[in-house]
Amino acid sequence: MKGFLHSYETCGAVDGPGIRFVVFMQGCPLRCKYCHNPDTWAPDKGQETTSEDLIEKISRYKVFMRNTGGGLTVSGGEPLMQAEFVADLFKKAKEHDLHTALDTSGVSSPELVETVLKYTDLLLLDVKSTDPQMYKMLTGVKIDYFYKTLELADKHGVEVWLRLVVVPSFTDKFEEIDKINAIKAKYSNISKVELLPFHKMGEYKWAELGLKYELEDTYEPSSKTMEELNRALNE
Ligand code: SF4
Repeated sequence: MKGFLHSYETCGAVDGPGIRFVVFMQGCPLRCKYCHNPDTWAPDKGQETTSEDLIEKISRYKVFMRNTGGGLTVSGGEPLMQAEFVADLFKKAKEHDLHTALDTSGVSSPELVETVLKYTDLLLLDVKSTDPQMYKMLTGVKIDYFYKTLELADKHGVEVWLRLVVVPSFTDKFEEIDKINAIKAKYSNISKVELLPFHKMGEYKWAELGLKYELEDTYEPSSKTMEELNRALNE
């Protein structure tokens, strides 16, 4: 099956447990203000590949992945834009006995989400914001997809790690943490919540693409803010 990749990384250590082969898919329907990969947005760019070629490449690293409790992570862009390709790649990964993780916003149709969940061990689900208005303002899309995907993961018994990017003045609020704690209490399949500090490493890409970066005056959250929010998360 054919798909379009932005890039891949053979030794990822932050997108799921252990050492991971991370595939970044091309295409994203969201427009997150803090996106550090706007070059993944256009669905008609990227390099064409096949799931057969890709799994062959990935499988060369499988001993390494297994020995560290790692596996394959598919990220993006928004990987659900090429859900059938990702499902096929994950199916092939399971044939190699590899752990599979999907790093997603959850924005897609329920049918396509289920197609991929069938072969997914871990869902790395971006919260963006728990406030519907803030979510829409930050991403350009409605929050409903997030909740629907979370419900589907619960229905299929797929483990979930929630991830929130802490953006000063936007999502660095204790109310966000309280709502995340409430969501965690409701879904027993959520095993972890990760708070990721906002950074501006991708700002230059916006300029290269001729796009206006609206967060130019926003800075990384302080370590004190991150510590306090993490403490509230674990209370
Ligand atoms: S979902 Fe990810 S790739 Fe898409 S705009 Fe948001 S941060 Fe960027």
